[in-house]
Amino acid sequence: MKIVYSKHFEAKYPTNPVENPDRVRLPAQELLEAGYEFVEPSPASQKDIQKVHGLQHIELVRSRGLYDAAALAAGGAACAAKLALQGEPAFALVRPPGHHAAANRAWGMCYFNNMAIAVQKIRPKAKHVLIIDIDLHYGDGTATIFRGDPDVKIVNPWSVDENFEYLNMDESRYSSQVKEAFKGFDFDIVGVSAGFDTYLEDWGKLLKMEDYQKIGKAIREGSERCGGHRFAVLEGGYHPNLKYCIKSFIVGFE
Ligand SMILES: [Zn+2]
Repeated sequence: MKIVYSKHFEAKYPTNPVENPDRVRLPAQELLEAGYEFVEPSPASQKDIQKVHGLQHIELVRSRGLYDAAALAAGGAACAAKLALQGEPAFALVRPPGHHAAANRAWGMCYFNNMAIAVQKIRPKAKHVLIIDIDLHYGDGTATIFRGDPDVKIVNPWSVDENFEYLNMDESRYSSQVKEAFKGFDFDIVGVSAGFDTYLEDWGKLLKMEDYQKIGKAIREGSERCGGHRFAVLEGGYHPNLKYCIKSFIVGFE
């Protein structure tokens, strides 16, 4: 299990203040102390970014002073995907997040779609990709980018029940959706858009810290069908306990 991380992820850049450097700095400290091995990524090249995003969008991100941070986060995701293909599960502890970024549009503190850039980078080797997005919010950017692509399956488990009552949802129903994700599709690799804002004390108010271990384990077990090729990329998560949620997930995922 490798943690993909760079000190540069702690950079200050213009964004919503909730998406602050401590989101990655504190989990990195926690995982380093726990003895995990770290890998330093390189930024994604503009060529790799252009496999997902239009030039105009890239220039807009650049003009807002976000290009370097966003390119490095995308490079972190691609690095984790590459490690996963080599048989080493990996967690990319990156910021800014990416799953709300579409080809020519971005919102929700996302600029480049880290997951999509990672997937396009490895696709010559891994044709069929399963993406499980466990963030509280629907990964609309990723869904838009891969719409109509039969080789990529994206599953966003619901954190609300059939009546859209989010307080009636529970961990076992949420986890069963994660397990369902593996059915009916043959895949070569599993990528997890790992957002932790579904956490009990975060915005989603659903999953306990230890639930993330169960979810990580369910994904590890599901990935056995593709030789265990699995990686995760940080998306949302804004509570100070984010570091414990991430660690809990990794304990199950590794
Ligand atoms: Zn979110």
